[in-house]
Parts: sequence; C-alpha cells; structure tokens
Amino acid sequence: MKKILLLLLIILSTVKAQIMTSENLYNNYEKYKTENLEHRRVSYLTVKELIENLKSKTIFEVEKIGESLNGREIHSVQFGEGEINVLLWSQMHGDESTATRALFDIFNFLSTDDEFNDVKKMISDKLSVYFIPMLNPDGAEKFTRRNELEIDLNRDAIRLQFPESIALKSMHDKLKPSFGFNLHDQSHRYSAGNNFKTASISFLAPPFNYEREINAVRSNTMKLILSMVKELEKFIPGHIGRYSDEFEPRAFGDNFIKWGTSSVLIETGGWKNDEGKSFLRKLNFIAILKGLESIALESYKNMNAADYEKIPENEKFHFDLLLRNLTAVYNSKKYTVDIGINRDEVPAENENYFFYESVIEDFGDLSIYYGIEEIDCTGLKLREGRTAEIENPESLTKTEINDFHKEGVTSLTSNTFTETFTHLPFNFRSRIENPKIAVDSNPEFVILKSGKVKYVCINGFLKDVESKSGTIKNGMFLR
Ligand SMILES: [Zn+2]
Repeated sequence: MKKILLLLLIILSTVKAQIMTSENLYNNYEKYKTENLEHRRVSYLTVKELIENLKSKTIFEVEKIGESLNGREIHSVQFGEGEINVLLWSQMHGDESTATRALFDIFNFLSTDDEFNDVKKMISDKLSVYFIPMLNPDGAEKFTRRNELEIDLNRDAIRLQFPESIALKSMHDKLKPSFGFNLHDQSHRYSAGNNFKTASISFLAPPFNYEREINAVRSNTMKLILSMVKELEKFIPGHIGRYSDEFEPRAFGDNFIKWGTSSVLIETGGWKNDEGKSFLRKLNFIAILKGLESIALESYKNMNAADYEKIPENEKFHFDLLLRNLTAVYNSKKYTVDIGINRDEVPAENENYFFYESVIEDFGDLSIYYGIEEIDCTGLKLREGRTAEIENPESLTKTEINDFHKEGVTSLTSNTFTETFTHLPFNFRSRIENPKIAVDSNPEFVILKSGKVKYVCINGFLKDVESKSGTIKNGMFLR
C-alpha cells in the first residue's frame, strides 16, 4: 500500500505545475517541435496545412487577413482574451523562415495540456496575441527576400501598395497593439561586436526619427529586449547582437514605433554547424515565449533601458571560411597570404533547397578578421587548380573523383552549359584553363603539403584529399 501511495505521489509530482523558466523551455522543447519544418526552405503549402490544423483547436482563432499578389492566403492566429494586444509577424522576407518554424512550435506549446498550463492561462488572461506566420508567402515559395513583384515589403510601410503590407497595416489599425514582434533572419556572418562570436540572435528597438530619440514606446521596446537577452545569455553567451539603429522611414518596425507599438525586431543570424538553424529556432521559441510572459507579468518594466546600449553592435568581421598563413609563390619569392571566402545561397528552381555560389571576398593580410570556419595553413603552399577534359563526368566513380582531386584537378570541361550548378564536386569550364586565384572570383585552387596536394578548394568548399574529409556541396558551371 505504501509503495502504491509513493508511486501515486511521484506521478502527481511529475505533472505538478512548472514555472516557465527558459531552462524548462530549453529542456522540454523537443515535445513541442513541429514536424515537417526541418529544413529552412518551408513551402507555403506546408504552412497552409499546419494553419488548417490549428482551426480545430479551440484555443486559437484563425482568420484569413489577406492574400499575396499571387493569391496565396495570409492568416492570423489569435491566442488569449486579455486586454493587451500583441502582434507578431514572421517571414516578411521570404527566405527568412526561422521564426515561422518557431511560431508553430509555440502553437504546439500553447495547445498542449501539460505542466505549463498555469503560465499559459496567465498569458491568455492578460494578453490577446495575434501571430501572422509567413507574411510573404510568394517570396517564401521561391525562397527569396522580396515579394512576387520584386518589392521589399519592409520598404512599403509608407506607400502601402502591396497586399501583404496592407494585411499587416490593417491588423495594426484594427488592434492598435501595445507590443509587436517583427521576426527576421539576418546575415549569418554578423558578429556580436568586434569578436569571433557570431551574432546568432540580434535585437533592435527601432528609432522613430533620424535623431534616434527615445520615447516611452521605444524605451519599453528596449526593456522588453533586455528581458529576452537576459534569458538567451544563458544559452549563447556573447552571441547576442544589437542591430543597427539607423532610421529607415520606409520600414515597418520603425513605423510601428511611430504608430505607438513597442515593436521588437528579432534577427536570427548564424550558429556554427547549425546550417538548418534548428538550434536557433529553439532559441526563438524561448525568446518569444519569455517575451510574451514578460509583457503579461509586466516584468520588463524592471529592466533599465540604458543597458540596451551595452548589447554589442552587429559588426562584419566574419568570413564563412578563413584560410590563414598560406604561402604564395611568385617569381620564386614567397609571400604569406590569407584567403577570406564567403558562400552565398542561391535558391534552386527545381529543387527543394538551394545551391552555393562562393567568392574570394578578400586576399592578403586578413589577420583582423575571423572565420566561422578557420584553418591555419602555416607551411602549406597555395597553387592554381587544373582543368581536365572528360567525356562523361556523370559516370565518374568515387575513387576516380578522389584521384582527380589528388592530382589537383578542380575543373572539368563541358560544352553543355544549360545549368548553373552541379551536384558533382568540380567546377565546369568551356575549355582547358587554369582557374585564376583572384578576388571576386570563384574560390578554386589547391593547397600543397610537401609538394603533394593536401586540400582542393572548389566553389569555396575545402576537401582534405588524404583523409577524404570535407564535402564539396556543389560545383558551378563557369564560362
Ligand atoms: Zn528580413
């Protein structure tokens, strides 16, 4: 009997109400993670289906608030019946999907019956929260920043010409929200200050004029930001940045402040080895939920707005790959050089995802910079790659590919330039030529150790030919 009682007690205590600390959210996150949102390129249909599923949950009120230029639906999802209105919108820029994915995790959190019921009840009593996931579905479908007519919607807050912007503005006018969350992704190459640490999440309390004055609306935004920074610092210390506060009269964030809404800009950046941004999605989940809690409890009021300035500013000191201390030889003389390489994503038309197009961003003494990935090449020699002629590149075996790489072959010839990208680990050229190592050109070269090829670099990806480690994600057809 005693044993049964004890067991009952244990069971009861495990469902005991929990405080929604950020640690608890962090540790329980997997329970709320939405499936089908693994990849950053989220399709409109996936989002539409997920929104459709929310309609059956009584705690949400789903409403169609507009249609994109191409007729794709834009929805708002309401949670809570409180007096304070809060409006959140994500993916105004079509290729910035991290927060959209986090919002669906938040919907799961809010609709799960569990140990966090108390805090959810508190939030829903105090706040009426309106979420707009994927404000720019046409851009999202192509995974590009702008809308169907190539308009940056975040420069349409004054003219308000496009249906996506109009949907957002009419939600604002209807709700006159006290708080807003403007959810974006920024370059993964920003750092938090002049630092080797990437700005993995950056915040901005936008200004409402060129003088960047601070009124109560903006000051509350700063305090809300500080309340979220305090939580995120536990997981990514030193990786939180402050976005440039230059006034942009055409942007929504700046205008929301002007219109009386304390609107926070959250920009998700990069995290090493988290290309799919699943860790950063989790941090969005935590930041937004803690932000909502802070508004509901009014705990942001305890923060000191002056501390906002202490958040390190976003800086540009990072390359995707920095090769340090290579030896370049010219006319038998040796020189020490560093190579800074960036890889940009290009959405693939008939593919689900994207390809990479890389560039030598800088060359020379780059000792003041950092690499998200860095290799010290002291004692290693830089040399041009080679082009080889081959009949049928698609039929190359893994061993043959590796043998080519070992011989320093980085390009193959091809006369069929119908594509821009190839899944093969080579670039393609129209004739036999040695690829030039030059700023602004494709990073394609070899690195020698004691006269033998140690690495090949093709389209900015490095492969160690001895250990066969490192993946050349894709090559390019270069004219
Ligand atoms: Zn953006």
